[in-house]
Amino acid sequence: MRNVYLDNNATTAVSPEVLAAMLPYLGDLYGNPSSMHTFGGQIAEAVETARASLAELLHASPDEIIFTSCGTESDNTAFWSALQSQPEKRHIVTTKVEHPAVLNVCQFWEREGYHVTYLGVDKKGRLDEAEYLEALTPDTALVSIMFANNEVGNIYPVQKLSELAHERGILFHTDAVQAVGKIPIDLRHMPVDMLSLSGHKIHAPKGIGALYVRKGVRFRSYLRGGHQEHGRRAGTENVPYIVGLGMAAQLSREFMQMERVDVAMLRDKLERGILESIPDSIVNGDTENRLPNTTNISFKNVEGEAILLMLDRLGIAASSGSACTSGSLEPSHVLRAMGVPFNYAHGSIRLSLSRYTSGQDIDYVLAEFPGVIQTLRSISPFKD
Ligand code: PLP
Repeated sequence: MRNVYLDNNATTAVSPEVLAAMLPYLGDLYGNPSSMHTFGGQIAEAVETARASLAELLHASPDEIIFTSCGTESDNTAFWSALQSQPEKRHIVTTKVEHPAVLNVCQFWEREGYHVTYLGVDKKGRLDEAEYLEALTPDTALVSIMFANNEVGNIYPVQKLSELAHERGILFHTDAVQAVGKIPIDLRHMPVDMLSLSGHKIHAPKGIGALYVRKGVRFRSYLRGGHQEHGRRAGTENVPYIVGLGMAAQLSREFMQMERVDVAMLRDKLERGILESIPDSIVNGDTENRLPNTTNISFKNVEGEAILLMLDRLGIAASSGSACTSGSLEPSHVLRAMGVPFNYAHGSIRLSLSRYTSGQDIDYVLAEFPGVIQTLRSISPFKD
């Protein structure tokens, strides 16, 4: 049996190069970057090298990067900062297909008395520009729209959306946790005010992230304490992980162009092979405009969880588009927002590749997948 990991939107393997870059900072190079002595000074230098590397990936300036503990902290910080720095404005615009790291933050601010507009999407998960424009009001403090969706891979038109917000003097935040490192992002030409990213989606370890804050944007700290990160994020820096993120960003810069072609080719082969060999299967999302590594496929009249369990027994790791709420399996909020029919939404699987996915991996999955669905359909209680 082969082990095939196709759940890279959940988390990625730490690259050997990233691990090698980190190890000295878990060993002899343990100084505190805030210390005055040489011991700390060389550590501070390593942090700044990592910051510059990450900034280069986004075409940003190093002093626009704040290291955080994860994408979730970056999202929380962006909201905190935007709302605390404009207390007179009480309205937020977001979408129905955001990650819980944004949706649950919105719900928190709703309980604090804010009004939130959740923009809907069409069948392919796309936003409607007219609906977006209608939602923007003089009371809007913040727009938060993801760069790319974690479940179906859709890429949102952040360039246009941020321009429209800016023309109206509204701050624009994007959760780019799934986009950074996979597709080019050039913040020199995009009026995004804040952008969240996370290390463990780009082959750095879990527990490190960053928030980009455009120069000149008013900022309010979420974590208060020491003066680290120029007083913008208190807490002694997680140096080894910051160094790891810097190396991961460098590797993304080096490999992105190649990966966008190679990984997409494998993804397309996988998707095509599944659709051709399994009747009543459909791809969810905007296939014209999505991440190169992601496909989300629904199989009629089967349970996604059952597919996952059978794939797992074959050594294949994937993810399902449903969540267990109060004992029953509910299709994910993203597929629900897209209006995927119930008997398809239940049998949804997300397959997400990485630079470490091989052609043999895909051949193995293609050989095993039809049998899994056939078996499950033969015992399924759902029939037409
Ligand atoms: N935003 C998106 C779109 C994600 O996919 C994830 C993780 O799955 C997060 C935010 C949260 O990132 P982290 O796990 O670093 O907190």
